[in-house]
Amino acid sequence: MNSFLIAVFFTIAGIHSAAAQDFDRMRENMVRRQIITRGIDHQPTLEAMRNVERHHFVPEGQRRRAYDDGPAPIGYGQTISQPYIVAYMTQLVDPKPGDRVLEIGAGSGYQAAVLGEIVDQVYTIEIIPELGHRAGKVLRELGYDNVEVLIGDGYYGLEEHAPFDAIVVTAAAEYIPPPLIAQLKDGGKMIIPVGSPFLVQTLMLVEKKGERITTTNLMPVRFVPFTRKN
Ligand code: SAH
Repeated sequence: MNSFLIAVFFTIAGIHSAAAQDFDRMRENMVRRQIITRGIDHQPTLEAMRNVERHHFVPEGQRRRAYDDGPAPIGYGQTISQPYIVAYMTQLVDPKPGDRVLEIGAGSGYQAAVLGEIVDQVYTIEIIPELGHRAGKVLRELGYDNVEVLIGDGYYGLEEHAPFDAIVVTAAAEYIPPPLIAQLKDGGKMIIPVGSPFLVQTLMLVEKKGERITTTNLMPVRFVPFTRKN
């Protein structure tokens, strides 16, 4: 009986550690096959994508597919973005150590963790309280003490911590919320999907240089809609 229990214990422990190694291997494959081959070469972004354990940010039943080449459902009709899109958006805002970054649409908390690997401080706003609380819990458990999740409508940004070196918006808005432009630092960059919900949207880069705001259309994307609190 005792030796049976010991055997069961080591079998379970064996399965457990094999799974952890599997996730490491899947993550490395994700970085090579989905991200580097598509042209991402910003080293801090690649390092962050290698470090963040994406499988902790997807629902339990989805873990095996956490490193697949696509978005995944996270509940409440929302999705965690495709790994390549997360890397692309991260590279484009050119995050640096010492930066203060704002994200709109915490969702799973994954994009915030990727940014948190690189910069000093990340604030991320989520409009669905249940998702925001879950993201906050995961981030705390993984030790991302420099990432703060706030519940609310991200349309207004976060005046009390502005201006931001970078703003990453992960829900598609019909237009760029003016408060977000106002809260961008001089020389700062914002990336935001703009367009109608459920149709093809355009990922846009917004750059602020003094009084000048320039926008660049990057590529067609599909994000969940930017919603508003009534
Ligand atoms: N960055 C997330 C992607 C989540 S999908 C991740 O890495 O998992 C986009 C998220 O934006 C959804 O969770 C949605 O609820 C949220 N959202 C939509 N409109 C919002 C708003 N006005 N303010 C804050 N969050 C919003």
